[in-house]
Amino acid sequence: MDSIYSYAMDTFLYLFQSKSPEACNVSSLKGETKNSQDSMDPGDRKHDHSSSSMADGVIKKEEYEEIVQENPAGALCQDPKQDVIGGLGTAPPSPQRLRLLLVGKTGSGKSATGNSILGRKEFQSKLSAQPVTRALQRASRDWAGLELEVIDTPDILSPCAPLEAVCEAVVFSAPGPHAVLLVTQLGRYTEEDRRAVRRLQEAFGVGVLAHTVLVFTRKEDLDGGSLEQYVRETDNEALARLDRQCSRRHCAFNNATGGAEQEAQLRELLGQVNCILWENNHRHFSNRAYRYCQRNGLRGDRQEKQVPGGSGSEEAPGAEPWREGLCQIQKESEEVYRRLLKREPI
Ligand code: GDP
Ligand code: MG
Repeated sequence: MDSIYSYAMDTFLYLFQSKSPEACNVSSLKGETKNSQDSMDPGDRKHDHSSSSMADGVIKKEEYEEIVQENPAGALCQDPKQDVIGGLGTAPPSPQRLRLLLVGKTGSGKSATGNSILGRKEFQSKLSAQPVTRALQRASRDWAGLELEVIDTPDILSPCAPLEAVCEAVVFSAPGPHAVLLVTQLGRYTEEDRRAVRRLQEAFGVGVLAHTVLVFTRKEDLDGGSLEQYVRETDNEALARLDRQCSRRHCAFNNATGGAEQEAQLRELLGQVNCILWENNHRHFSNRAYRYCQRNGLRGDRQEKQVPGGSGSEEAPGAEPWREGLCQIQKESEEVYRRLLKREPI
């Protein structure tokens, strides 16, 4: 029952996504207060949800599947002034440190986008037939009093990537990213991208798109045109659907530029991230696997326990008991999400 509650919670957040332009400005990102959410987890707050039938822990898997079927992403909207979790009162303070997880197919421009966010060349980025980024990496920068922690990923969403690759990414980004940056090249949203998105939902849960910004690279190809118009008028059905599923949170990067243009791109991205924070009550993304990490003191940035070390980690997967536990949870979750997504078009 606990696991079903977990899936229900993840999906609850996924279904209740809405966009609030008035709430989406970058200035309110610059909260001065410390993030109290890192030690808390949405899954640990189930008794707070008095208005949801899920709160009673009585939701059955069949009912839950019905909810998903009956409420495609973005179909449910609510008053943007209401607390998104329902009746929790005042929203918690903005986090001071934002974890941004870069995902997408190989060659889409994840590492280049990470470098643009950081304002320096930290991650290796180059045109190659083979994946260039081979390990999880993190780097951070200060931005107007905020610490931006950027996590670059190797090819974790490819059909060939093993389950352990996702587990490593989960631990590395634990207790959970505030925003997932789904990177795709402008004008090239292909079948491979679509499969990567499906894999993202299977691996992280259907609720992950409620924490996702669609990031288009090669902004210069717009040639001064508007991204809004491009996305609105695209005849790529799958891209249009994905944009809706992400509540139309999108932005574009020209990763070949610098200076004021680079700064403006970052500002726009952070505006979208602020929407995500606002919609999710300033909580980072979480799911069963992340909650497992929290319970076991596992996170990539603090060596509370031995965790995957990104580059240079030589440990064989499955060496420690916590790894086995995490992989088991990940496997179970993926099975459930795969079933849930079966009838959704790719
Ligand atoms: P990753 O595999 O997703 O990390 O992709 P990379 O960051 O390695 O980028 C793949 C290639 O695309 C590299 O040659 C980058 O320089 C190039 N690239 C990425 N973003 C842009 C962009 O906005 N403009 C241009 N012109 N090239 C880009
Ligand atoms: Mg890369």
